[in-house]
Amino acid sequence: MRTDTKRDDVLKRELDDILAKIETALGKRPRDDARPPEETFGTDADKALDREVFNRHKHERLVIDYFDSPKAAQRWVDALGDAIKRDLLTPNGLKWDDRFAVALSVQGANLRPYEAGSTWPIERKVWVDAMQPPVYVAATLAHEYLHTTQETFISNKQAHGPEFAAGLNAMGLVGPATASIPGPKFEEWFKQHAPKPEEFE
Ligand SMILES: [Zn+2]
Repeated sequence: MRTDTKRDDVLKRELDDILAKIETALGKRPRDDARPPEETFGTDADKALDREVFNRHKHERLVIDYFDSPKAAQRWVDALGDAIKRDLLTPNGLKWDDRFAVALSVQGANLRPYEAGSTWPIERKVWVDAMQPPVYVAATLAHEYLHTTQETFISNKQAHGPEFAAGLNAMGLVGPATASIPGPKFEEWFKQHAPKPEEFE
């Protein structure tokens, strides 16, 4: 009997896993476990805030679901980038490198599992995970812009030092610098001033 129960548990877990994979592939909504490991999120207060913001946005349409054509997606990302430069980087005296091209991608392609965004200094490319709600894509893009002016070969810790963290905070991003999320100020900016994907479908 015991063995059977155990086997059922294993089968159930496998089935759950398959269903979750299908759901993710269909782009219905982000899975809780498709997020970085908890310890990335710093203090208990950071974790609580992260959970609160995540729960508020988790049923929103993901960016990948808005676009039928890569061109339309690219037009939105470019417009979003321009708005971030105009409203968040420039007024705060923050620098970025315009030689970097910005594009959407997904984890498992140009992004590692758990990576919301990545800046590739040699290729001069910024990738942002499209399997996120729009405000998260914007927050990721704002974060990655700050990486574009950094030295090429530095550690993750050096890349997310105090100066970097201050830049994130100036733009309204909160939480630990390695896993920043949109704070209230950023959310307000996004609502009021950012170009929305539905305008570019
Ligand atoms: Zn970073």
